[in-house]
Amino acid sequence: MSRIYNFSAGPAVLPLEVLEQAREEITDWHGSGMSVMEMSHRGPEFTAIARQAESDLRELLAVPDDYKVLFLQGGATTQFACVPFNLAQADSVADYLVTGSWSKKAVTEAGRFCRARIAADSATTAYVEILPPDEWSLDPDAAYLHYTPNETIGGVEFHFVPDSRGVPLVADMSSNILSRPIDIGKFGVIYAGAQKNMGPAGLTLVIVRKNLLGLAREGTPRMMDYAPMAAAGSMLNTPSTYSWYIAGLVFGWLLDNGGLEQMEQQNRGKAKLLYSAIDQSGFYSNPVREDCRSLMNVPFTLADAELDASFLSQAAEADLRNLKGHRSVGGMRASIYNAMPAEGVQARVDFMGDCEQRYG
Ligand code: PMP
Repeated sequence: MSRIYNFSAGPAVLPLEVLEQAREEITDWHGSGMSVMEMSHRGPEFTAIARQAESDLRELLAVPDDYKVLFLQGGATTQFACVPFNLAQADSVADYLVTGSWSKKAVTEAGRFCRARIAADSATTAYVEILPPDEWSLDPDAAYLHYTPNETIGGVEFHFVPDSRGVPLVADMSSNILSRPIDIGKFGVIYAGAQKNMGPAGLTLVIVRKNLLGLAREGTPRMMDYAPMAAAGSMLNTPSTYSWYIAGLVFGWLLDNGGLEQMEQQNRGKAKLLYSAIDQSGFYSNPVREDCRSLMNVPFTLADAELDASFLSQAAEADLRNLKGHRSVGGMRASIYNAMPAEGVQARVDFMGDCEQRYG
């Protein structure tokens, strides 16, 4: 078997143990004589899989009883619209913190469905930092405050939870969910596409405080309305069963490996290794202010962009793959989610040192 070190931003590396378990069970899940892919989503087997996944996720994140957990489809991008449909009327104001590409997309989409307002925008500093809270202009009557705790493209991460001053706080946690413990009680809605830290694409997690259910505006499509979805156990229609199952295996793997405290410790260690290597070199650089640097996505550039192509091809030969930066910004980016082993990061740091010696 040959496995690369996969630094893709998403879909991204999954734990090898999870893939092996899935392989083991692919034709016959627990003596059922069926693959999970072949099961009715309403049958006893899949019902057990779905229940276990939810209960493991609740344990990992210590989700309080007054929150519903939904396993949906449509990706985080669909949630950009679901949030205003569920929490705002067409004439309501909703506040957005804009810290990079994904929050920009979120506010633009929401603007089609409510009066989405930019409460802070770090454009003036080219999105390499988060403006301090005393520079945000929050509307006390906003339907909610939305932010993107981790900007997957820019590599900017909030290392604190914003104080939304009493309005529901909404977070797009697509690229840092499960990377560390969080206090769910501070949030009204959390959503995340699964394909980075949770499992395969096709599954979207929503965690919503129960008192925010049932507020969706007139005309909200039922598939986008959290309340009927919650009442139907996320099964208003056929859910993304296989992705749900794999996410469940990932949750089990996290529990078996020390839970989110352990993940946080490992993630901090991996990120430190990488940022130190970048900062100590005169050849690589990362533009993000130190206290806003992402533990999950590390963008960097070479001193000479002409060398990008050969850096990438030599990295690929060393089995360090998918290091190209997002097409919108160029440069390089290493995504180091939970399932990226520390050895992968070390191999990358060694490769970078080697490259610098040859070209720097
Ligand atoms: N938000 C963030 C922070 C993301 O990283 C991504 C995907 N890279 C998205 C939203 C869009 O997710 P999806 O493709 O699941 O719609």
